[in-house]
Amino acid sequence: MSKESTASSKALPSKPIPDVFTYTQQFWEGTAKNELLIQVCGSCQYKQWYPRTLCENCGERNLSWTKSSGRGTIFTFTIIQEVVMNSPAFEKEIPYALSIVELEEGVRMVAQVVGCPPEHIKTSMPVEAFFEKINGFSVVKFRPRH
Ligand SMILES: [Zn+2]
Repeated sequence: MSKESTASSKALPSKPIPDVFTYTQQFWEGTAKNELLIQVCGSCQYKQWYPRTLCENCGERNLSWTKSSGRGTIFTFTIIQEVVMNSPAFEKEIPYALSIVELEEGVRMVAQVVGCPPEHIKTSMPVEAFFEKINGFSVVKFRPRH
């Protein structure tokens, strides 16, 4: 085994990147421009996240996108304390908070909460979205909003 391959085998693995589908492509194009987009149904005006091919409320495919304010509150959260098999790339961030954020538009989304010690995070805490570049993707995270 060469020195190079030994060194690379000890490097931290990259964080996983999302699979992009036709129905999620516009979402990722939005995050690349620091815009948080959510789907809205043209038939019943229901708003939803995560992106789907049809409205989860009425089943219609008449979906378009609207820009979220990016403001919300912590609905619930958990503190990740140890690495699991599929995410060793997150090891150096432990402990970190993974939350369900309720956006002002009424939809809830799963995201990491950073910008304060995990033990300071509480339900109903105001947060705002921001975007972090990870392996060519612009990923949505939340931080405390004052
Ligand atoms: Zn609908």
